[in-house]
Amino acid sequence: MAKCPECGGAAKWQSPFYVCTVCGLALRRREYERYHDRLKEQVFEAQIDKEEDEFRKRSKRHKDYEDWFLGSKK
Ligand SMILES: [Zn+2]
Repeated sequence: MAKCPECGGAAKWQSPFYVCTVCGLALRRREYERYHDRLKEQVFEAQIDKEEDEFRKRSKRHKDYEDWFLGSKK
């Protein structure tokens, strides 16, 4: 089942458009696919941001540990 890129509602194929049954958005097949490609990219970028965040948090924790470890040797 196709999904409306605007509201996430169900979109029905009514040649030559995908028509959203919830908000009434009508998209040509091409536009619909372009919309979804863009959404996929956004999700992908958000995922990368999240991973970067976690990586930074982890390396900071690691650095704290190193500081503590090096500090305790003095
Ligand atoms: Zn919609």
